Amino acid sequence: MEKLQSYMSGEWQAGAGAGRPVRHAVTGESLYEVTSEGLDMAAMLDFARQGGKTLAAMSFHQRALMLKNLASHLASQKEDFYALSTATGATRKDGWIDIEGGFATLFTYSSLVRRELSDERILIEDDWTPLSRKGGFGARHILTPKPGVAVHINAFNFPVWGMLEKLAPTLLAGMPAIIKPATDGAQLAQAVVKSAVESGILPAGALQIICGGVNNLLDLLGPQDVVTFTGSAQTGQTLRAHPNFNRQSIPFTMEADSVNSAILAEGAGEDAIKLFVREVMREMTTKAGQKCTAIRRAFMPRDLLPRVKDALLARLGKVVLGDPAKEGVTMGPLASQRQLKDVSERVEQLSAQAEILCGGHLAPFEVQADEPEKGAFYPPTLLLCNQPKESPAVHTTEAFGPVCTLLPYDSEDELVELVALGEGSLVASVVFEAGQDVSELVGRLGPWHGRLHLLDPISAEESTGHGSPLPHLVHGGPGRAGGGQELGGLRAVKHYMQRTAIQASPGAMSQVTHSWNTGAPVITDRVHPFRKYFDELAIGEQLKTARRTVTEADLVNFGCLSGDHFYAHMDKIAAAESLFGERVAHGYFVVSAAAGLFVDAAPGPVIANYGMEGLRFIEPVKIGDTIQVEFTCKQKTRKPQRNPEDLPQGVVVWDIKVKNQRDELVASYDILTLVQAKD
Ligand code: NDP
Repeated sequence: MEKLQSYMSGEWQAGAGAGRPVRHAVTGESLYEVTSEGLDMAAMLDFARQGGKTLAAMSFHQRALMLKNLASHLASQKEDFYALSTATGATRKDGWIDIEGGFATLFTYSSLVRRELSDERILIEDDWTPLSRKGGFGARHILTPKPGVAVHINAFNFPVWGMLEKLAPTLLAGMPAIIKPATDGAQLAQAVVKSAVESGILPAGALQIICGGVNNLLDLLGPQDVVTFTGSAQTGQTLRAHPNFNRQSIPFTMEADSVNSAILAEGAGEDAIKLFVREVMREMTTKAGQKCTAIRRAFMPRDLLPRVKDALLARLGKVVLGDPAKEGVTMGPLASQRQLKDVSERVEQLSAQAEILCGGHLAPFEVQADEPEKGAFYPPTLLLCNQPKESPAVHTTEAFGPVCTLLPYDSEDELVELVALGEGSLVASVVFEAGQDVSELVGRLGPWHGRLHLLDPISAEESTGHGSPLPHLVHGGPGRAGGGQELGGLRAVKHYMQRTAIQASPGAMSQVTHSWNTGAPVITDRVHPFRKYFDELAIGEQLKTARRTVTEADLVNFGCLSGDHFYAHMDKIAAAESLFGERVAHGYFVVSAAAGLFVDAAPGPVIANYGMEGLRFIEPVKIGDTIQVEFTCKQKTRKPQRNPEDLPQGVVVWDIKVKNQRDELVASYDILTLVQAKD
């Protein structure tokens, strides 16, 4: 039988020995043998470290563009992946979540990084924190790529998405990855890696895959390496205790079984009940319930149990289980016979404390397949536990299939207690009527979850659903869910970087961070900064403007022009009784007057004002005060040129300090301008 090859050290290699067979989830036919016996993990690590050097030398924007190209390339071959996906038991819809959901994650991460980060190799996390009285010493935090390797051990249920959701932040951070997919479904992950490697988009060593076991790889890892794991809590806990991880403080992120909940809130009416039933039903049947986020426990007020139960049973009765290739089939089989056995055993455990309302493996069920006995088919199974407080198994047993238990509750206090018996979950949905206030409940459920999905008839129209982790949001949960965090926008990228506090003088800090810092040396020039192209501007270049004395006429004119007649600016008596003791200029007048002082009006390389950030009014400006602006080039970010006909350009961040005649700061903020580049 064909052996599934691993991609290691720049070559496709087959392991020795017989290996573990991978079977077709529908037909039971043997497809591949999977073994990595005898493969050289040390050489693989060396190769990855070489790739890591190339990645680390790239800027964030270069890495993000690489990721976008990779996503486009993979998307162009999606039908090949769908074809392989059917052997894992996935329907077209299941495949879409895995395959196109994976590519969408790459695209989203690529644009997120290009939008949010400067085109640098280090990530600057926060603003300057002064640590001295005279301002000559302060600190900032920076993040640099770890010169190690990220080893991703993945689950069988999402061979593509599960791999790409971790790969995106890894590559963006500048780290190479070694993927170890689950043996079941490894052929699909391998096909995606093969396509990525053949595209030549990634540098050599950036991406490798082990089909089979990890051999001695984990013993060879060092302090700059990172390991992530998705799978069963049992394997995760064993791996977490690996002596090498302990010895070298190797970060280990775990995302494991989670007994997630859907909660129908007290006071729910017909609309909320409908939404609740729809959500539970969808989570039970999508991917045949083999989702880490699937709803395993469905809570409802006790008096609503009969309505929920009847509605769910009616909908589950319409599910067509069978071969996804057959017309009309709405739910496919489990991924393997191993999973079938596992789910059957778990349902047996659950049924000791809950009544099976429908499904289960003991009763006969219909399957639309040519040889149903050969596939890993399991029917949608709904259980009911009337005494959830006395039934610990329903809160801790995860049947990783189309299985859910109904749990009635008698009060909100009891509900919170019951949910907590799950010991920490990835996600819970709270379903309620529009206008109902669930803030108290959210506050109490928060500590037990990585994500809370609040579903009412308003959000339902556009909700992405209970079960969809999104690139921008945290995916991971406390306690039993593994305690890890994947995704979450830039949080995930930072996971593969080292955070370091830098203490320095303002000048040294400006050099390290490639951005001007208050107190750092400035450069002055006779040419106005607005007359300079993006490439000609130097970080720290400063214009000290002419001065302007603020008059009563300024206040009156600005008040009339803007329509802002607030008493502090316009009413002499009320202003005298106010905090200021007299009339003060509108804050927006100060900002406008500042622009009047620093702008060079004639057409030039400055294309547009892009926005303003961090505006603070520090001291009032009174009639007779004289203001002056210090206008300093703080940071520059080149914008990628999408089309050849687009003007080459970049975003320039200017530090603005408006001071009065006593050299006191009256306003400070950043403005962003789009500036044309020369090349
Ligand atoms: P496992 O924990 O057995 O496997 C998960 C991953 O770990 C696979 O890639 C597996 O490889 C690998 N692995 C297993 N043992 C080791 C080891 N000693 N060293 C390194 N890697 C190892 O989970 P299963 O895939 O068997 O699924 C079992 C259960 O886990 C499911 O029924 C479900 O309850 C839960 N699960 C939870 C998921 C989640 O996202 N939270 C996702 C999937 C499953 P290999 O396949 O080659 O053994």
